[in-house]
Amino acid sequence: MAAREYDIVIGLEVHVQLATRTKAFCACPTDFGAGENSQVCPVCMGMPGMLPVLNRRVVEMAVLLGLATGCAINRESVFARKNYFYPDLPKGYQISQYDKPLCEHGKLPVLIDGAWREFGITRIHIEEDAGKSMHGGGGSLIDFNRTGVPLLEVVSEPDFRSADEATAYLKTMRRLVRSLGISDGNMEEGSLRCDANVSVRPTPDDPFGTRTELKNINSFRFIARALDYEAARQWDMLQHHEVVVQETRLYDAEKGRTYSMRGKEEAHDYRYFPDPDLLPLIVENDLVEQARGALPELPWQRTRRYMDDLGLSAYDAEVLTADEELSDYFERVVDEDVPAKTAANWVSSELLGALKQRELEMASNPIEPERLRSLIKLVAGERSRAKSPRTYSPRCSRRRTIRRRSWRRWAFSRSRTKGRSPPSWTRSSRKARRKSSNTRAEKRRFSVISSAR
Ligand SMILES: [Zn+2]
Repeated sequence: MAAREYDIVIGLEVHVQLATRTKAFCACPTDFGAGENSQVCPVCMGMPGMLPVLNRRVVEMAVLLGLATGCAINRESVFARKNYFYPDLPKGYQISQYDKPLCEHGKLPVLIDGAWREFGITRIHIEEDAGKSMHGGGGSLIDFNRTGVPLLEVVSEPDFRSADEATAYLKTMRRLVRSLGISDGNMEEGSLRCDANVSVRPTPDDPFGTRTELKNINSFRFIARALDYEAARQWDMLQHHEVVVQETRLYDAEKGRTYSMRGKEEAHDYRYFPDPDLLPLIVENDLVEQARGALPELPWQRTRRYMDDLGLSAYDAEVLTADEELSDYFERVVDEDVPAKTAANWVSSELLGALKQRELEMASNPIEPERLRSLIKLVAGERSRAKSPRTYSPRCSRRRTIRRRSWRRWAFSRSRTKGRSPPSWTRSSRKARRKSSNTRAEKRRFSVISSAR
């Protein structure tokens, strides 16, 4: 990539929708795709006099993510009301955390082009989702099923200096929440949403420029494009002595550009104050220790293991750990007869290639790992048999080869002179040829040909 004449500064706010069975502060189910407004109750609809009750599972999941990213877990944190008006927010406020979040000061290790980088995490806090407005058809409709669904907001430090770094971080975050089992990380269904703060400056030594916030970039395909477009737009403005305004912008994927949505709110616009309906959240030692014990092998630990213990290249390790299902599959293919490197080649090129050709996801891969393993062994066995000098005596084998070659050459040239395509067995596999040449009919044909000469 050509060197840029300016420095980009990006910070990300990732919203992770937690895979709890019920909402954050009431017992309504959270199933995706249920009929509109079928999963609501007086609590999440914000009826007067209703009291929220915190879902313990939400705290457990938040602590799990906090520990995985090396955050400090604050033993006391406070729920606050974030006040704003929006038709899909029936209470008129969102329950969130403000000055006392649950987790702070973490980092996420990310492998980028074979080198490890660490990106700072400022804070992780618990909040509830708003509903969903649907516009069109001469009016607007609102679905409140999503109201009160638990989210974790992960706020990063402004550590990213390119759109590619931001994308790699986001992909690692998705792998992490999936491997922890706290979210399906599905961007299309909105389980993972990303807002980005973008600013530009002439050199890395200059102070940060005025930033704009890009809202809801919900596809890996568009993130890099949206960030690059926005940075270039700001730089262009600065070159023309215009002022970049702090505002919230949206990315139009079809037109490939960002446009202004509204002026950026400051924290004081939300009139945060501690929610009087909820006591401060006290996290006990037991809960933290239980979560620590439940931590699985983290995605970057897996990538490092593939490189250090299995001897795979950074590239192979990155491809194979990009997806939890893929890594699990790969590990089931490896055994004492199928070394990691061989399995890695088969899985990352043959299998993924075949799936891509058929437009299949890893989840719908029809080939059991055991079957792929036997195929790899079969092919390896064939190769070693073909190379083995003990299978035939050199003389016998040479004679056979010459005979087979001349017969094939003859059949091939005959088909050419008659304008036909050559018979398929002239191209058949070594194994099939050996088998057919062993049949009596084949031997007879050989003798006919040799006598005809
Ligand atoms: Zn409810």
